[in-house]
Amino acid sequence: MTKTVDQYNFKGKRALVRVDFNVPLDENYSVTDDTRIRASIPTINKILHDGGSAVLMSHLGRPKGGPEDKYSLRHIVKCFSELLGRNVKFGNDCIGEEAKLLASALKPGEVLLLENLRFYKEEEKGDEEFSKKLSGLGNVYVNDAFGTAHRAHASTTIVAKFFPQDKLFGFLMAGEIESIHKVLHEAKKPLTAIIGGAKVSSKIPIIEFLLDKTDNLIIGGGMAYTFAKAMGGKIGKSLVEDEFLKTAQQIILKAEEKKVNLFLPSDTVISDDFNNNARRDICKMEAVPDGWIGMDIGPMTREKYAGIIGNSKTILWNGPMGVFEMSNFEEGTKAVALAVAQATEGGAYSLIGGGDSVAAINKYGLGDKVSYVSTGGGAMLECLEGKVLPGVKAILE
Ligand code: AMP
Repeated sequence: MTKTVDQYNFKGKRALVRVDFNVPLDENYSVTDDTRIRASIPTINKILHDGGSAVLMSHLGRPKGGPEDKYSLRHIVKCFSELLGRNVKFGNDCIGEEAKLLASALKPGEVLLLENLRFYKEEEKGDEEFSKKLSGLGNVYVNDAFGTAHRAHASTTIVAKFFPQDKLFGFLMAGEIESIHKVLHEAKKPLTAIIGGAKVSSKIPIIEFLLDKTDNLIIGGGMAYTFAKAMGGKIGKSLVEDEFLKTAQQIILKAEEKKVNLFLPSDTVISDDFNNNARRDICKMEAVPDGWIGMDIGPMTREKYAGIIGNSKTILWNGPMGVFEMSNFEEGTKAVALAVAQATEGGAYSLIGGGDSVAAINKYGLGDKVSYVSTGGGAMLECLEGKVLPGVKAILE
């Protein structure tokens, strides 16, 4: 069965498309970052160029379950119309008579954007009746909202059951799924996973899952100090989760058992205060002086990590190596970003998955020098934990 929009002819069809237009707005309701809107354009254009029409649905912000002007998708229409290069119609409600009339009046090549789905609490509850009402607005369903695919909401998951034959992934969803598949299921070896970020606790499910997949596991960021302490090191005032010392020890043992090469930092950039202008020094990872804080991986570690990344055929990166938001503590993250870009140039496949590593790769202008930069924070993290997302499953079933 056809599963992606490129294998489907939309001529004469009215596509009901779940997009992710949850974009940031300023105090005048202007869009301040249109990345997500731009990311939806290829799928919409495919539908329109085939001779179909599109009914778009999305959420915006976190309304309390009823209409609130500040969360109205009306604010997006101007920006979206400009990016699409066509006039976009707007429906004041995502269900009801007006929505039905507007949808059924669409001609080939026309686009209707519906009001915020989350003005109905039924959306997040995955309500079946509400999903059925949405489904009446189109005759083929397309999900291109990867960022919400980990939620079993009405528009992301439940609605799919009303399109048993005609349900598809948009280009964005398909790209995300393919990149995850390349890394987790058909990786060219060696596969190196680079995991950083603030806390071990939030990355445990990812690390545990990856221990069954990866050849090399590189650890950096704030979480590395919990590992250092677990191995008997002195970490001063560095970030630590004492309740996870045992977990860190278990991860080290499991890596040994599973023959995964686990790399922990050997040196660290330290500071005497958590701010960019604090006094700085470099020391051994296990010998942070009292009162000092580990802020970044050190120069020896940078070099070591860059070498491992350079010898990899597949690379997954999630989480920064240090407090990269502060210029004096960004060298480790920058070195990793550069190494990933260079390895990619040399033929490796690289996926930048989720959250702050995405911000980091973009900060260094290397977003287009890696194979894939994920758009989905929470959704990507759940994929890296080995979960099948409800929004993905709903299309495949
Ligand atoms: P996460 O959301 O778990 O990926 O964590 C990202 C955050 O971890 C970023 O805001 C970094 O500033 C922070 N971080 C990285 N290294 C450290 C560190 N050594 N100490 C404190 N925070 C850190």
